[in-house]
Amino acid sequence: MLDITRLPLQDGTVRLRPLTRADAAAYAEGTTDPAVRARAHLPEAEYTPESVAAMADGVVREGLQRGDLAVLTIADAGTDEFAGSLVIFDVSQDEAEVGFWLHPRSRGRGVAGSALQLSARFATASGLHALTARTVPDNTAAQAVLSRSGFVETGRGRGTTPSGQDVEMVHYRRDLRATTTLDWSVTWHAGHPSPAHDPAPKIQTHWVADDLVVLRQNKSVHFEAPFMFLILGRSRALLIDTGATADPEDFPLRQVVDELIDSWWSGDVPHAHELLVAHTHGHGDHRAADGQFADRPRTTVVGHSLPEVLAHYGFGDWPATPRQLDLGERVLDVIPAPGHHPSATAFYDRRTGLLLTGDSLYPGRLYVEDWEAFVASVDRLVTWSQEHPISYAVGCHIELSAAGQEYPMGTTHHPDEPPLQMPASALTELQTAVREIDGQQGRHAFDRFRVWHLL
Ligand SMILES: [Zn+2]
Repeated sequence: MLDITRLPLQDGTVRLRPLTRADAAAYAEGTTDPAVRARAHLPEAEYTPESVAAMADGVVREGLQRGDLAVLTIADAGTDEFAGSLVIFDVSQDEAEVGFWLHPRSRGRGVAGSALQLSARFATASGLHALTARTVPDNTAAQAVLSRSGFVETGRGRGTTPSGQDVEMVHYRRDLRATTTLDWSVTWHAGHPSPAHDPAPKIQTHWVADDLVVLRQNKSVHFEAPFMFLILGRSRALLIDTGATADPEDFPLRQVVDELIDSWWSGDVPHAHELLVAHTHGHGDHRAADGQFADRPRTTVVGHSLPEVLAHYGFGDWPATPRQLDLGERVLDVIPAPGHHPSATAFYDRRTGLLLTGDSLYPGRLYVEDWEAFVASVDRLVTWSQEHPISYAVGCHIELSAAGQEYPMGTTHHPDEPPLQMPASALTELQTAVREIDGQQGRHAFDRFRVWHLL
């Protein structure tokens, strides 16, 4: 069943909402376009503003009420103007089919891709596990946008269109659950009783997926021992955070990152891969080694102040709407998460389903600088986790032992740490916790984390 309370959904480009009478003229006009007539296979031979208005009051409303048919409008996110139509139909327990067409004036702006992405969020939030789609073989534009949106071709065969024609169709399917197998079989090195005698490397690296590395600064180098993330796409790599130490002698982050990128990228020219260095937030233990990348070729280091973060990702209505970051056949979503720090963001990796939560959630002391902003950010992340498959929530520190005890602050040795990765339910536990705290100052203890609200 479709959960219509999830609508509308929007990103920076489009809004997905039910079709209304206000869309009638633009919808009818769009259906007269030759490409729509040839390829959309709409149920009716002809649409008028009157027939669309009647549809909005009738079949559209009834389908949404029953939860088995959603006739939606793809609207411009800024003006709410009709840009196209997206229909979710044949809804079963686990899956539904999606179809779409665009008004000619809205083509070529990434509208269809955004709308398909939002339809996947809507379906995921409704508890579905897959979306299917069909298109005719010569509709290469639709096939390209389906492929870019995570749909894979599952076969070809004759089928009946919504208009009742029997034609050859290409079948597509998108699994809405995170399917990449992740390797978390790692024991993180957590310092040494005598830091000066710690034989372990200054930076530990572990490939969690074949294109995602988690790095940890040795506690013997700096007690914060932050985790960092290297995510590899076809056109560029993304390094999230640069640790707590600037000096490359003590903390050779750039050297380690270059070796990781070169081992993955089998191109002819070493160091040819572009690198984007970004941050979960601006605190010093997450950006100390930025300077090591300042003179690296083909490298962009994103600033850590709020204006720099807004400008780099193009946030328009911070902190409401996430932005996308395309690394080349690998898209991440950058989700505003202020509260611990004004420019904090979370990163959602669509490929692995990992939600990188920075210092907003990890097994340790969650320091809240701005309570109202933090509460809203936790709500935003919980909603995101309901609309997207989450494999794990992964933060940047570990400060509780496996038994749930706090390690003393500043200590350089953490025997018996729990895993870094937390299940998505930890997000709802944090949401429950902040509701319970209700803004009260103090150090609040919960099973998986502490919430420190001291300002
Ligand atoms: Zn921090």
